[in-house]
Amino acid sequence: AAKARGRNCVVMYTPDMRLHIEHKASVTRGIQEALQWGQIVPFYQPKIELVTGRVVGFEALARWRHPQYGLLTPAAFSSAFEDPELSIAVGESIIRQVASDVRRWLSQGSDCGRVAVNLSSAQFNWIGLAKRFLEVLQAADVPTNRLEVEITETVFMGRSATHVAKALKQFHESGIRIALDDFGTGYASLIHLKQFPVDDIKIDQSFVKDLENDADNAAIVLAVIELGLSLGMDVIAEGVETVEQAQFLKAKGCQQAQGNFFAHPMAAKDVPGFLQNWTVPPV
Ligand code: C2E
Ligand code: MG
Ligand code: MG
Ligand code: MG
Repeated sequence: AAKARGRNCVVMYTPDMRLHIEHKASVTRGIQEALQWGQIVPFYQPKIELVTGRVVGFEALARWRHPQYGLLTPAAFSSAFEDPELSIAVGESIIRQVASDVRRWLSQGSDCGRVAVNLSSAQFNWIGLAKRFLEVLQAADVPTNRLEVEITETVFMGRSATHVAKALKQFHESGIRIALDDFGTGYASLIHLKQFPVDDIKIDQSFVKDLENDADNAAIVLAVIELGLSLGMDVIAEGVETVEQAQFLKAKGCQQAQGNFFAHPMAAKDVPGFLQNWTVPPV
């Protein structure tokens, strides 16, 4: 067959490519094994309501507890979220763990607020996504108003809008909030805010970064806050690292913030203690 298609096929198959394919296959195997060993776990970063300084929820962020390399962030295992099949398996594992963590916290009397789970574009290729998500919550006896899903604008690209709309409608109607993540970095088509049941907008950390010195970033952040406010959405700033950034956001009416200024993502076991010891920061 390769011969019939001509010489190009042979020329294109370089040693580099073979290495790349083999590397990819071994990464896939590694992630599948990590899942089986329970090494891929959610860490939790608190979300702070700026007016009150209260913890109103957390964002679940995947981590790979790698036996050799230590705690890895998603950048080191991105195929877990991009590969069509892997993303479903990893997504299933994360939602199960989040549901069981939330159930445990609530049963212990620890009010974790609303917990956000990131969903990748690849996960939306799976028709059963929303249904399965809801089944897992129900099985763990976790109310849907304890959950939020974070999606990025890439879910709207290159696939049927009705399919995505159906999944989002299922989430929304069940009481799960929907946040548009990394807002402004992708195909910031404002029609998405109108066409889909979006509840919250997350301002990407690249705009929050250096807000106090970068007039362009300050202007963009302000515009997104105003857009969210006038559409009746909550605006959440991510990647807040300094008190000046927190003060700016609070003064401009941004409802929530998360970032290393408040707290780094933490293991599930540390959440109840964190909640107990939380004191309102001087913002
Ligand atoms: P994201 O959803 O935009 O998450 C925010 C990222 O900002 C996280 O990176 C978080 O650790 C990081 N961050 C938090 N505070 C600060 C700060 O003060 N400064 C800076 N510079 N960064 C901060 P992380 O954990 O490496 O995750 C990267 C991305 O991977 C996430 O971006 C999300 O898109 C994806 N991801 C993480 N967990 C999951 C998951 O379970 N499923 C899917 N589909 N994607 C995930
Ligand atoms: Mg997110
Ligand atoms: Mg984000
Ligand atoms: Mg981001």
